[in-house]
Amino acid sequence: MTSKVVLYARQSTDIQQSISAQISALMDWNNKHLGAEVISKFTDELSGKNTDRPGFIEMKSFLKDTQADALLVWRYDRLARKLIDLVQFLDYCAHLGVKVISITESLSEENNSYAMDKFQISMLGAWAEYQRKVIKENQQIGFQQKYNEGRIVSSQVPYGYRWNEGEVIIDEFEAEIVRKIYDQYAQGLGYSRIADQLNDAGLLNRNDKKWVGARIQAILKNDFYIGQVTSKYGNKNRHDVPIISMNLFYTVQSLREAKQAHKKWVVRRFILRKKLICPYCGTVCTPQHTLNSDKTYYYYRCARTSSDGTSHCKGININASDVEKEVIQLINRFVHSDVTIEKIQRQLEKKNSSIARANQQKEKNLLQRQKLILLRYEKGEINDEQLSAALKNVRKRKQKLKFEPLIPENIIELLDSQLTIDKVPTLADFILYQEIIEKVLVNPKKEITAIYLTGIPYNILKKVDN
Ligand SMILES: [Zn+2]
Repeated sequence: MTSKVVLYARQSTDIQQSISAQISALMDWNNKHLGAEVISKFTDELSGKNTDRPGFIEMKSFLKDTQADALLVWRYDRLARKLIDLVQFLDYCAHLGVKVISITESLSEENNSYAMDKFQISMLGAWAEYQRKVIKENQQIGFQQKYNEGRIVSSQVPYGYRWNEGEVIIDEFEAEIVRKIYDQYAQGLGYSRIADQLNDAGLLNRNDKKWVGARIQAILKNDFYIGQVTSKYGNKNRHDVPIISMNLFYTVQSLREAKQAHKKWVVRRFILRKKLICPYCGTVCTPQHTLNSDKTYYYYRCARTSSDGTSHCKGININASDVEKEVIQLINRFVHSDVTIEKIQRQLEKKNSSIARANQQKEKNLLQRQKLILLRYEKGEINDEQLSAALKNVRKRKQKLKFEPLIPENIIELLDSQLTIDKVPTLADFILYQEIIEKVLVNPKKEITAIYLTGIPYNILKKVDN
């Protein structure tokens, strides 16, 4: 039972998110999920120095002196900038029996779905990626708060309209383009074709930007154009300046649904999905198919061309089974060459012996620690309970020592098999090649120029001499 909680909020430099927004989110969350008594709140304002956090220091000593069950934060990054500091702090709280709950990051679904322990945090892996996520969601809370306070969010007024002193008015020039987009889609044109036509006609998007498929799609599904407004409480209201008729709008929606349903029909597994790079613009290629008389043709096409049109990249089309077959043959040749096998073995030995050395050192340190604990016990500095807890801790750490080969096991396993691929790849093929292939480069003549495999830091088509 969690009956007493402490709240902590910190303002940070990279986002506009007030302390009051964080605190009110924490209060709401507590009311909804715990219903616990809030015994104290601590906050830190924005300050020049990162280390200057009086609220945090006060909170730490408060937790030590007071019986609290949990500490609530908006995100773990409120508590520390560095992963190592965070882990240390979580240790501190675990020691005091205080659960640390991040109300927006529930990684663990077991036992307690909101508390995250340090092992899970280290599993988060790249701190950078964690931070990126944090920044994104923080922007969302800023937006949410503006919205709750009843302030107008300018992004509510879509293309085709203007916000004029508290009133929505039609922008005739833009509205004409919106109508054109709906008409063309109803006539059977796809998103990127419509974008192409507008760009070719010199009708640019706002800020003189070129049209892209995603923008066309967004316009085609926005019901603001038929007079719908989603209010701040999620209710639908109406405005009285629609641009598109209900009839046309719903025709377009059913067309879009029909096309999506058709897409789901294609079940071919493209093993080079997101791996093949367009030689013209460097974007990944995306799986495509066309129906020609009775036959379906499968190919990879530059994702930018596919979504945004040829005015963004002239694009490349590559026959799917041809390129797949060639890539697999090349990988097969690489994996089974004497040089590679020898190299893999040598690297493995080298890496493993260095890991073994490091592990030996760690083991030594653990033994040292164990000795120290026993010594303190003998001197009467710690009691029976503390002794057994400390020894258990040492054992746990010992179990965590692991060997990790440099060349990923999934590639080493390929040494035992000859690689081939059928015209229609199986699910096993798809999983295997998606995992081991990092990137495939082709030139404008559609010749394969480079293949990068996961965990191997060089192009396997380059002769490696050593
Ligand atoms: Zn391209």
